[in-house]
Amino acid sequence: MNIPLEALSAKSWRIAILTAIVAIGIALLVSYYVHSARQHLGADYTALVGNIVRAQQTTPQLDHALESFIDEPIGLHLRQIRHTLWLSSNYLDQVSHGLSQHSQLYRDTAYLGDDFTRLRGQIITLEEQAEAALVDRSLLPELQRLSMDIEATMAWTYSELNAAVHSAAGRQRFIMQRLSWAVTALVVAVMLVALALLAAVLRLQRQRNTLKMLMLTDELTGLYNRRHLVDAASRELNDAQRHQQPLSLLLLDLDYFKHVNDTYGHPAGDDVLRKVSQQLRNISRATDIVARIGGEEFCVLMPNTTVDDAESVAERIRHAIALEPLTHLGANLQQTVSIGVTTSLDGSHSFEKLYSLADQALYQAKELGRNRVECVLPPHSSSERQAILTNSQLDI
Ligand code: GH3
Ligand code: MG
Ligand code: MG
Repeated sequence: MNIPLEALSAKSWRIAILTAIVAIGIALLVSYYVHSARQHLGADYTALVGNIVRAQQTTPQLDHALESFIDEPIGLHLRQIRHTLWLSSNYLDQVSHGLSQHSQLYRDTAYLGDDFTRLRGQIITLEEQAEAALVDRSLLPELQRLSMDIEATMAWTYSELNAAVHSAAGRQRFIMQRLSWAVTALVVAVMLVALALLAAVLRLQRQRNTLKMLMLTDELTGLYNRRHLVDAASRELNDAQRHQQPLSLLLLDLDYFKHVNDTYGHPAGDDVLRKVSQQLRNISRATDIVARIGGEEFCVLMPNTTVDDAESVAERIRHAIALEPLTHLGANLQQTVSIGVTTSLDGSHSFEKLYSLADQALYQAKELGRNRVECVLPPHSSSERQAILTNSQLDI
């Protein structure tokens, strides 16, 4: 389980930070674009276009009123001219006001400012000259020339305005389209960020699990290590005491293991350790906790297990290991194990106490020739067990 955790962790952070930077970049770009496009998008050119069209329509009306006045310069026709000029000047004001509402369009049509001013002046002059011509008909040709001038200015100004508004509306459509792409890009970016964050979180979770496994397991055999055994034992002892159940502990030590290393080499010894571990896994129950607590020493913590059951499991383990065909580079290895057993009848003992009793039992097994199982029970349990044994012998 040789996993470069620091590298994994750094990679996760790099992914998360890079994705966040890309997302912030995209968000800044989009917001800058939205900000700069706002003036275009917010513009409503409908009213302005309506006023330009209406202003354009005053040109033929003025033309008609002037024709009538020149044919017959009477008060009625003068009033028609005045009315048309009033309309023209009114629409001119509305168009000017409309332009000032759209800053970009206003800037685009700034060059028409002089024409607007000239048009206003011409309208005033035309009205004055029409009044004068009512009295002095010799002024009529001059009036006609001025009216033609006004019509030409109006035609030019309004056609320029129309073109400007059309191009602004076209720009608006283009920006809308680009904006919809930008929003799509933003949505994709957000989804990518969410996915990247999810991946980073999952990766971190995996690293956490791996780290936890590394902290609790033994690298060579994959069994639990002493740290986990001690933690688990205190939990199991609490449970045993609460439910008044027995809890057994097996302590195993391989016999003459140094000889295996010395004769066949360390890798062969490692191989034996792995095979013994597999045997322990096979024989123990799912609720048992199997740990490697030292070089060639193992421990099996057995919740809810009587001493008799523990001894029979120990015997099965001893047999299995003794019979396991171990070969290394063609040579047959013979490996045996000595096992010390102890049991707390009700979980009222500390793990240290049980461990020391199992160690005593293991020592006895070694002393008595190895490849055997010995049992040492806590003092009071010993007498209780004796009583049980005696009772069962009496029953027989
Ligand atoms: P005994 O029957 O009295 O237990 O004899 P022993 O040779 O098994 O006991 P000893 O404590 O003298 O030797 C234990 C040996 O276990 C010594 C050490 O080289 C070996 N050992 C400890 N850890 C490892 C390991 O991870 N791999 C291998 N291959 N050998 C190990
Ligand atoms: Mg040993
Ligand atoms: Mg040994």
